[in-house]
Amino acid sequence: MRARDTSRIYFDRAADELDLSDSMRQLLLTAKREVQVQIPIERDSGEVATFIGYRVQHNDARGPLKGGLRYHPHVDLDEVRSLAALMTWKTAVVNIPYGGAKGGVALDPAQFSTRELERVTRRFVDAIHDLFGPDVDIPAPDMGTTADMMAWIMNQYGKYHGFSPACVTGKPVDYHGIPGREEATGRGVGSLTLKLLSRLGRKIPGTRIAIQGFGNVGTHTAKFLTDAECRIVAVSDAGGGFHREAGLDVLDLLRHARARGGRLTGFTGGDTLSNAELLAVDCDVLIPAALGGVLTQENAASVKAPLIVEAANAPVTPEADAIFDTKGVIVAPDILVNAGGVTASWFEWVQNRQHYQWGLNRVRQELDRILGEAFEQVWQLAQSRNVSLRTAAYMVGVGRVARATVLGGTT
Ligand code: NAD
Repeated sequence: MRARDTSRIYFDRAADELDLSDSMRQLLLTAKREVQVQIPIERDSGEVATFIGYRVQHNDARGPLKGGLRYHPHVDLDEVRSLAALMTWKTAVVNIPYGGAKGGVALDPAQFSTRELERVTRRFVDAIHDLFGPDVDIPAPDMGTTADMMAWIMNQYGKYHGFSPACVTGKPVDYHGIPGREEATGRGVGSLTLKLLSRLGRKIPGTRIAIQGFGNVGTHTAKFLTDAECRIVAVSDAGGGFHREAGLDVLDLLRHARARGGRLTGFTGGDTLSNAELLAVDCDVLIPAALGGVLTQENAASVKAPLIVEAANAPVTPEADAIFDTKGVIVAPDILVNAGGVTASWFEWVQNRQHYQWGLNRVRQELDRILGEAFEQVWQLAQSRNVSLRTAAYMVGVGRVARATVLGGTT
């Protein structure tokens, strides 16, 4: 099932619970603007290469559009469209004053030199600079894009519109970015896991955690939960994983990965296990933090964890979601769980606009506050309406956008 169909199922469920009219549903499901542009560049060899770039601006009823820019060979308009809508619900769940957008260029960044990627990024800005900006639409890094690329975007945008650091977020800390942005998604995943455990009346020290994915989100989640005295019993990356019932040494894992370009292969502090085994490992919390669609109809029954925290986007398919619901497995949904990144992006935008700097502690405090409030609202709604956390999160997000649409007027 495509991501588009998946999020549509959850949208429909929430819209039914909210009793939204057909006309409101149609309005909320339609993108405000979809742009496709040609990006020709000269390669280092002197040849011309032409790429297609997309930006979908889904909904700005609650504020300027916000969403990442991804460089991946499979990027197409359908994918960008569905991810843009997800951003609308995500910014609304955590109640930050943004709408939702997404963009992308269909290319494999590994096949191009840094200078070529810089040319692609700057030409893309040339093509869409009139359509984004601090009060309009604010891109950020996503799959295949980096902080350095965000610096190029800011610099190129400035050539048309003057100094505007708030036109893009996720910039390097030394170039109008902020400390705490990089760790924010993983930190948010960790802190929401603790809030959920507390709400369920479970003891936190010694809680056994398994994490799939040891990249940006997986590593920061592991660090945060280790500091909270949880036991990380299994981790994996694309090359496979490691297990230790007594708890893996996370600092050792980080050192090991850092020395090997981020890869875990060759780690000796635990028994090896496959990615399929990691998903079925005996633990208290399973955190898929790598890819979408990893927990499916086929493997859902083998999951032993009573709690799944969706750090990646859409790691649980709707079929698996239904199985978990029947089994009483609690799933904390992606649109809430991984919203720490966009929340910290908002902090970066706020500071850029004020020409002021907060410091790391304030970023962390504000992040905890925003995510904590969102979690409580979703938790309370799930209890009072007897719905899953996912349906409750969509109800909070979709409901806020619908109310803003009515308040702002539709014509
Ligand atoms: P990343 O590229 O830094 O790390 C991805 C990790 O997943 C790597 O360790 C990689 O080896 C591993 N991986 C890849 N294929 C795998 C496989 N088949 N099995 C097991 N592991 C595999 O990415 P990230 O930024 O950590 O993002 C992880 C997920 O979280 C993605 O789904 C992303 O869309 C989502 N997400 C990230 C952010 C963010 O701020 N980084 C925000 C929201 C959502």
